[in-house]
Amino acid sequence: MLYHSTRGGENSVQASQAILQGLAGDGGLFVPEDFPAFSPEALQRIPELPYHVLAEEILTPWLTDMRREDIARMAVQAYAPGRFEAGMPAPVSALDGKTFLVELYHGPTLAFKDIALQLLPRLMVNAIRTQRVDEGVLVVAATSGDTGKAALEGFCDVEGTRVGVIYPQDGVSPAQRRQMVTQQGGNVWVRAIRGNFDDAQSAVKAIMGDPAMHMALRERGWRLSSANSINIGRLIPQIVYYFYAYGQLCRQGILAFGEPVDFVVPTGNFGNILAGTYAKAMGLPVHTFLCASNRNNVLTDFFRTGSYSTRRPFYQTASPSMDILISSNLERYLYEKAGRDPKRVAGWMQALREERVYDVGGCLDAMTQGMWAGCADDAATLACIARTFREKGRLVDPHTAVALSVLEQYRQEARDGGRPAVVISTASPYKFSLDVLKAVDPGRRCEDDREASRILAGMAQESLPDAITALDTLPELHTCACEPGEVGGELLRWIGGGHAD
Ligand SMILES: *Cc1c(COP(=O)(O)O)cnc(C)c1O
Repeated sequence: MLYHSTRGGENSVQASQAILQGLAGDGGLFVPEDFPAFSPEALQRIPELPYHVLAEEILTPWLTDMRREDIARMAVQAYAPGRFEAGMPAPVSALDGKTFLVELYHGPTLAFKDIALQLLPRLMVNAIRTQRVDEGVLVVAATSGDTGKAALEGFCDVEGTRVGVIYPQDGVSPAQRRQMVTQQGGNVWVRAIRGNFDDAQSAVKAIMGDPAMHMALRERGWRLSSANSINIGRLIPQIVYYFYAYGQLCRQGILAFGEPVDFVVPTGNFGNILAGTYAKAMGLPVHTFLCASNRNNVLTDFFRTGSYSTRRPFYQTASPSMDILISSNLERYLYEKAGRDPKRVAGWMQALREERVYDVGGCLDAMTQGMWAGCADDAATLACIARTFREKGRLVDPHTAVALSVLEQYRQEARDGGRPAVVISTASPYKFSLDVLKAVDPGRRCEDDREASRILAGMAQESLPDAITALDTLPELHTCACEPGEVGGELLRWIGGGHAD
């Protein structure tokens, strides 16, 4: 399997090269030359397969320059029962007879980013070996809250790598911040930047696209890569849980083999939902993907009008991991839906950079086929958290609640909600306990988010996840802030000094 750039300006590369590089040299994203097919017979076996075996099955045709036994070993290590508090990466539970949650938040950092970032460091080490790279790999990530911690946790003390994370100073929840600033490990670097997530992501893309930065790092024995979902190595592991969830519904008798299902995806950078469309392209029977946004509803407007415009205010919401106006992975989707025409894609991306808007015109029909977009503001999100707790006895986090709220709209408006729907549940409610408590018990006063977590756990009669309680005793190690434009220089200083800060 070869990968080429969405913008057409780079030669095709093997998987390991694409993973090492992160971003294509022309600024585009790596996409597969075609989609490996999962036959109906293979599909029939899915319900019987443990998660890590299914991961091996699905990853192998994507990673053709890695050995199957290596892929199997990496999958076992990444998805071992001990790493996930539920004992498995993706348990599926029922909210009612046709609404299901695939719970992707039981990993070490309590968000779905763990599913990819428990595997990516292993793929990276394998790629370093396959490509015979003798430099170290500096992995940088911009985070809207969850990628940062998951990348730090995944790459912490991984030989031959260092990991640098930047997050928007005022754009993450208190628990998300505490997770990052308390990160231990000798190869980690964390900075708050004065700006929002789009500023952070642009800073990372600017560094990745800056020849002088690459040169300066080369001289010091390092090369750059990315842990953001612009890296194809982040996306491929996310295809697995779509198949897994489908298999579990077949196993429970909810679906007959081959019967289509809907997936509801709380969306920010469009990585998660894109992985779903890749699963469909491989043969998974999906009827509709619901693209759920918060008040930053640039994607809702796009799928309704064909015009993608960032000429709009940026809002901080109760679902901060989706506070994004530039959804990077939409570029990969555009590429598939616009007839794999890199010139068109490059033109749209240039217009976005220069005019902050582009219009896909006649391609809109293709873009909206099998895709339905909706949004929920904070009031609707908190109301949905309250309703879900009152009626189903389940605490859900604000990102999951955005998805549930959009599913309700879809079932009303599209009059097409007869099918079972799987909601991708992306984070633990205890990562966002202030807002969740405000939703389920608006009158309740509490000291801080830690107390809110304890109150919530009491109400839900659950015990707090270890990953939350452990934070209380850890020292804050990374408390510096800087401007987005200073990140490159600061990273070089850190690398040059040869020790962690
Ligand atoms: C990252 C994240 C999202 C958005 O996922 P994308 O792949 O960026 O669309 C949604 N919810 C949570 C909790 C996240 O961490």
